[in-house]
Amino acid sequence: MAGILYIVATPIGNLEDMTFRAVRTLKEADLIAAEDTRHSRKLLSHFGITTPLTSYYDHNQALKGELILTALREGRHVALISDAGTPCISDPGYQLVRDAQAAGITVVPIPGACAAITALAAAGLPTNSFTFAGFPPNKEGKRRSFLAALATANGTVVLYEAPHRVAATLEDIGAVLGQRQVVVARELTKLYEEFLHGTPLELAAAVVEGRERGEVVLLIAPADATVQQSEGPTAEERLQAALAKGHTVKETAALVAAATGLPRRELYAKALLMRERL
Ligand code: SAM
Repeated sequence: MAGILYIVATPIGNLEDMTFRAVRTLKEADLIAAEDTRHSRKLLSHFGITTPLTSYYDHNQALKGELILTALREGRHVALISDAGTPCISDPGYQLVRDAQAAGITVVPIPGACAAITALAAAGLPTNSFTFAGFPPNKEGKRRSFLAALATANGTVVLYEAPHRVAATLEDIGAVLGQRQVVVARELTKLYEEFLHGTPLELAAAVVEGRERGEVVLLIAPADATVQQSEGPTAEERLQAALAKGHTVKETAALVAAATGLPRRELYAKALLMRERL
């Protein structure tokens, strides 16, 4: 009998997000195919998983896919993982799933963390309908055409972006889609997790101010969404929360300025007073 191909989600930062089922599946599999074996070895050893590992990444997909299919046909169970989150979602795996199904092999998903869904769940933008568009192109011209094509997309648009391109992409969102409400969901499930709300240009400025590090999901409100008025936390509450998270006074002022549109100098002075009182 042929083996089963398991598509196993792993945490996007916080190891406590690993599921019991993922650990058991990875322990019981005959082979784990991982995007980066060195990276995954750390995760696996944390959970005491000693299953043999092989690599499966963008540039060896054709060759490795064949070897994995052979193992499956011979009756071995294979689990596919990526560096973080759900395989196949802006990560390798789609081709393997398609080929396995074509070969009559059962494919079983083991659900878990996914940055897009995690961001959407807490961004405060409409969730009844959304469009996940993955990574925008790297080059400005192509990126702007890509964004223009999303102008009439259904619901909230969810994008992945590399940390060093976030500011440029936010500027392009502002230029192509106008001043829609945007959320930058940063470092999800990690110590410095934060959700920055604002217009694309406010957020681009905040990112340039020094928040460019860390992984980011960008979420764009639908064209017809009313821009959130001040029903959220007050500026003082935001300052307090940012200081409590360990941000410096300067960072706190920049973050709250981006979220509220209030002058940074004023916020800096308030944050300084709050810090002295802490
Ligand atoms: N397959 C993964 C998933 O299920 O989310 C996504 C992999 S994709 C190569 C990596 C991108 O996901 C990052 O560039 C970033 O946009 C997003 N991402 C991954 N982890 C994240 C995190 N902890 N916080 C924010 N964004 C994250």
